[in-house]
Amino acid sequence: MRIFESQTIVVRRDGDGAVSLVLDVPDRSVNVFNRQVMADLDAALDAVSASKAPIAVMRSGKKSGFIAGADLQEFLSIQDAAGAQAISTAGQKMFDKLAALPMPTIAAISGPCLGGGLEFALACDYRFVFDKPSTQLGFPEVELGLLPGWGGTQRLPRIVGIERALNVILGRRKLTAREAYDWGLADAIASDEVQLRDVFARLTARAIGEGKRRLDRLPLRTWRQRLLESNSFGRRILFKATERLMRRNVWDDMPAPYQALEALRVGVHHGMTAGLAYERTAAGRLAVSSACRNLIGLFFQTQKTDKLPEELRGATPMKVQRVGVVGAGTMGAGIAQLAAFKGFKVVVQEVSQAALDAGLERVKGLFRKAVERGVLTEPESVERLAAIQGTLKWESFESVDVVVEAALEDLEAKRAVFRELEARARPTTVLATNTSSLSVELLQQGLAHPDRVAGLHFFNPVHKMPLVEVARASATSDAVLATLTQWANQLGKHPVVVRDSPGFVVNRILMPYLNEAVLLVGEGMKIERVDFVMKRFGMPMGPLELLDQIGLDVAAHVADSMRPVLAGRFEPNAAFEKMRLAGLLGQKCGRGFYLYGKKKPQVNGQVQELLRSERTPSDAFSLPEVARATESRERMVLLMCNEAALALSENLTATAASMDLAMVLGTGWAPHRGGPLRYTDDRGLADVVQALASMATRLGHRFEPCDELRHRAETNASFTRGPHDG
Ligand code: NAD
Repeated sequence: MRIFESQTIVVRRDGDGAVSLVLDVPDRSVNVFNRQVMADLDAALDAVSASKAPIAVMRSGKKSGFIAGADLQEFLSIQDAAGAQAISTAGQKMFDKLAALPMPTIAAISGPCLGGGLEFALACDYRFVFDKPSTQLGFPEVELGLLPGWGGTQRLPRIVGIERALNVILGRRKLTAREAYDWGLADAIASDEVQLRDVFARLTARAIGEGKRRLDRLPLRTWRQRLLESNSFGRRILFKATERLMRRNVWDDMPAPYQALEALRVGVHHGMTAGLAYERTAAGRLAVSSACRNLIGLFFQTQKTDKLPEELRGATPMKVQRVGVVGAGTMGAGIAQLAAFKGFKVVVQEVSQAALDAGLERVKGLFRKAVERGVLTEPESVERLAAIQGTLKWESFESVDVVVEAALEDLEAKRAVFRELEARARPTTVLATNTSSLSVELLQQGLAHPDRVAGLHFFNPVHKMPLVEVARASATSDAVLATLTQWANQLGKHPVVVRDSPGFVVNRILMPYLNEAVLLVGEGMKIERVDFVMKRFGMPMGPLELLDQIGLDVAAHVADSMRPVLAGRFEPNAAFEKMRLAGLLGQKCGRGFYLYGKKKPQVNGQVQELLRSERTPSDAFSLPEVARATESRERMVLLMCNEAALALSENLTATAASMDLAMVLGTGWAPHRGGPLRYTDDRGLADVVQALASMATRLGHRFEPCDELRHRAETNASFTRGPHDG
């Protein structure tokens, strides 16, 4: 019998006298907390309270899961810290009200229970979890530059202990149903429908018998908790150790993890009321921090890539079923494996049996790893592997819908492949190149149907990297771009449409940065220091580590191919060639800027010596250590900002936001800074221009701020805050 009904929540009295509060947000695939839900919940809790039922169960009306968190869209309308704090205060109050209901409460969790959803469950007295793969309990807030602001930093440690709570909140660990049960976060677990009834009935009886729970002390379930968390000395050690770890691993200008730690500490040392007060003021501060704004902005920008971009809305994409791949090296094998994994039929062309065998071995290896990771079962991997056919004679190319060419990075070799493809494939087959640095336009030349040729640039390793650049050359048709964009989506990637230009967007912006990192080594800066500086900035790896991963021979080749776009601004850097000649190719041969073996990579002192003669040390190296780190970071970062501005002025992407997104998804570019153009805006256009101009005077022409930057600084026209770039 229904005793309360609103837009999003129904409260009903069940046969056994218990009441169930069922959340089902209309027109959403998952439940999320928004203003409407909060208003409904307030009234629904009154109805539950008045019901005098012996027990209340909180349920989701959705098959997709419990509650996925708060509606991030509403975050975009937050104006200031006070507004954000008010939202946190209201949420805390609401969950206090839930915790204070007169009867014991159970959260019935099946599927994702994240963020605000977990805080809701924590405010219940008991938790039941259904053990299935999609059941996950966690706090993604810190990843978005926030902290759990509805009591999560206070209730979680009181239920699972401090160290485990830190693991979930700071370590962003998502617990499975089993882990939640083992950690005491859940009180009962069932793994199938048969058990469910029984287990739930037992939990209900227990909850009625034991009654309400008070969260007035730490749980101390394990010996480690008794040792470290039962006394103030142990707790201090725990907090200090966590802070030390954070100082090493948390990016600069990323306040959320520190604030979350502090909220926990205040709560543990001074009680829940003080902890909640800290939590809500911190939530206010963080919600308006640039890190949070940028991370949430990227979240929405990434979501947009699921649909065809504005510029292609009028085009009709072709359906793709069969795929051809030319070349089964690192990239070709990766692309073939991904396509087969996603259910496409694939044929791979190679030049020799040995190369084909090696390529297919690579594909098998990738499937083996996927099985190890639990992404698919052994029989599934066998079935999908069988969808890949190898050929040396272009067999089956007459029936493919899309071809991705991933052969040698050589213009004439690629041209020969495209001529062959034109002769072999149907006139409607879309022909794409995975080139890193060549011009698609040059590949179109001389072909009868250049309109069907485009760039489709995957990143290495293909199965991991989320970005695909879809490159438009002047003759490429919209339908071809729409087909590739849609297909990239089907492969689980985030496509960004870019204009054809050597290196497209990502390699174009990366190249000056890598070049500068190598120059810094030549000037005497320590290899590990160069990498450290950029990792602190927020890069997932340092530029020299990245060069070792790319391979110095490949980098030298790419730098060479990109000379036309960098000409006049960058002198050729002989260091790449020097390293190539010395056989220091990077990870693939075990030696580059680092030495790779079984242990952690070690700095290769030989490189420091080899490159030292490249340049005379600049003035920067007479500076004290901290100033030197700042100067080197400025050099590496601002070159990318300048290049991104120039690339935008050449319309390499339709918007600044999609250029930033390409950098973040393609390279892991400091996400909390939003990308190079967003960073330029946040830092201030005038400041960036002035810093570049000063470096141009001291260090050379390559730092000369481009016209686009100068013009925007003069007119105060930001890149990412315009009406079209949200
Ligand atoms: P690779 O050397 O590992 O593999 C190239 C493969 O192509 C070899 O197996 C070779 O036998 C085969 N091949 C050469 N000519 C051929 C032809 N005419 N027909 C059929 N097969 C042919 O190279 P890779 O790293 O896989 O790079 C392939 C392409 O992808 C290049 O254009 C490269 O610039 C680009 N790319 C590479 C990376 C990377 O990180 N490796 C990233 C993005 C793009």
